[in-house]
Amino acid sequence: MSKTATKRSGNTAQKSDETMLKELFIDELKDIYWAEKHLTKALPKMSKAATSQELANAFQEHLAQTEVQIERIEQVFEILEMTARAKKCEAMEGLVKEAQNVIEEQPKGTMVRDAGLIISGQKVEHYEIAAYGSLVQLAKTMGENEIADILAQTLEEEKQTDQLLTELAVSGINISADNETEE
Ligand code: FE
Ligand code: FE
Ligand code: FE
Repeated sequence: MSKTATKRSGNTAQKSDETMLKELFIDELKDIYWAEKHLTKALPKMSKAATSQELANAFQEHLAQTEVQIERIEQVFEILEMTARAKKCEAMEGLVKEAQNVIEEQPKGTMVRDAGLIISGQKVEHYEIAAYGSLVQLAKTMGENEIADILAQTLEEEKQTDQLLTELAVSGINISADNETEE
């Protein structure tokens, strides 16, 4: 008999898969709750640091969306009859630090700073897309379709924001290319 088999059969106080899945879901929900709250402090700084008005507006608009996203998470906690609690997300703390480094390292008023901020912004959105994509899937598996629908709205917003940042990066690159041909 293998070691794993012994361990498995020997564990009599094992939680059901259903319970463990719900605990995992709640843990991930607390993580993204912390991450979104952290972002409401970072996005205004990223907006202020942006060179182009378009990028400044994009971060500002996403701040407004993020505030609604926080309310959605609180709604999900309510459906689960739980008090909304945040648990520090190390990844989001790191991603925000990287954005701060871009602001410190790239000179004010340059398109290079915007390019750096777009990269930082997209890394944040990709983390969120992974988090919400997983939460939606977990909610469906748990049979919590109302929760899945609520979080799917946020997932869609994160995807749209990522797409918008891609478009801003492309138009930014075009500007630089134009400048080069003029010189
Ligand atoms: Fe978000
Ligand atoms: Fe996290
Ligand atoms: Fe986002």
